[in-house]
Amino acid sequence: MNKIKLIYEGKAKKVYETDDSTLAIFEYKDSLTAFNAQKKDTMQGKGRLTNLISATFLKLLQDKGIPTHFVKLLDDNHQLVKRLKIIPLEVVVRNTSTGSLCKRLGVEEGLDLVPPLVEFYLKNDELGDPLVTEDHIRAFGFASKPQVEKMKELSLKVNEILHKFLSKKGIKLVDFKLEFGMDDEGNIFVADEISPDTCRFWDMTSKERLDKDRFRKDLGNVLEAYEEIWRRIADWEKSCSAEYRANILVYLKEGVLDTQGKAVLSSLYSLGYDEVKNVRVGKYIKITLTSPSQEDAASRIKEMCEDLLVNDLIEEYSFELEEI
Ligand code: ADP
Ligand code: MG
Repeated sequence: MNKIKLIYEGKAKKVYETDDSTLAIFEYKDSLTAFNAQKKDTMQGKGRLTNLISATFLKLLQDKGIPTHFVKLLDDNHQLVKRLKIIPLEVVVRNTSTGSLCKRLGVEEGLDLVPPLVEFYLKNDELGDPLVTEDHIRAFGFASKPQVEKMKELSLKVNEILHKFLSKKGIKLVDFKLEFGMDDEGNIFVADEISPDTCRFWDMTSKERLDKDRFRKDLGNVLEAYEEIWRRIADWEKSCSAEYRANILVYLKEGVLDTQGKAVLSSLYSLGYDEVKNVRVGKYIKITLTSPSQEDAASRIKEMCEDLLVNDLIEEYSFELEEI
C-alpha cells in the first residue's frame, strides 16, 4: 500500500490517500500540541509511541466486536485505516472528574463518575471545540439522532473494554475522546486515534499522570510517560488471549461412496438391527487452542480444516467453538 497524496495535515498526524480509495494511511508525527495548538513542541519518538499505542487499542476493540477504522500497522509511524467521512463531533467519556469539567462546573478533581459522563463537543478549532447538547446537534444537523445514539452506545462499550483492560495494567482510565466516521453505506466506525494524546491515564497507585497532561502542565518526562503506557500494554495479545475448544465434525459429501458406513451397516444387519436404513461414518475432532479472540480462534480452526483436517474433494465440515 503506497502513500499517493497528502489529503490533510493535522496537529498530530498526516493523512494520505492510497491506491485504494476506501483506505487512508495515517502518519503519526512527533509533534505535541495543547490548548488548541497555542502550546507546541516536538519530541523525537512520540509519533512512534502514539502510532503503536493507538493501533493496539483499536485492534483490542475490534477483537471485542467494536467497529473501528483500523486495518493494520504498516511500520513504526504508519497505520492503514478505512477512509471515512468524519462526523464533526468529539465524544468524551469521563470516569473521574478533572480538566475542563472541573474548571467549567467548579467541581472537585478526582470524583468518581458512576455511571460515566458522555459529552459531545463540536469539532471546530476556530471555536475551540465547544461543548454541545443533543439539542444543538439536532437543531444544526451536526449528526442525526440515530448516529448520536450509536456514538453514545459505542463510546460506553469502548469505555468498559478499555477500563477493564487498563485496570489489569495498573492504569486508571480517567477520561478519553473518540471520533467517529461513516463509510459510503453509512456504517459508523470508531475513527482517529486512542493514545495518551487523547486519553487521561493515571497510575492506579501513585496517581502519576501518564498522558498529555504532563505536557499541558509542564510536569516533565512526557515521552517517558508515553513509553510507560506502551511498556504496559505491548504484550496485550498474550495477556488477552483465552483458551477455546473447537468441536469439529467432518462428514462425507452427499453422493460420495462411504465404504466404512457400508461395512458398519452390514455388521448391524448381521446382529439383527433390521430397522437401520443407512449409515454414514465421519470424524469428530476436538481441538483446544489459545487465541486473542473468538473471531481469531474461528479463523484459525477454519485454516486448519482447509490445510489438513478435511479433504475438500469428498468431505465437508462444521464446527462449534466455546471459551473454556
Ligand atoms: P487535528 O489537528 O484536526 O486533530 P490530526 O492530526 O488528529 O488532526 O489528524 C487526523 C485528521 O484525520 C483529523 O481531522 C481526523 O478527524 C481525521 N480522521 C480520523 N480518522 C479518519 C478516517 N478514518 N478517515 C478520514 N479522516 C480521518
Ligand atoms: Mg486530532
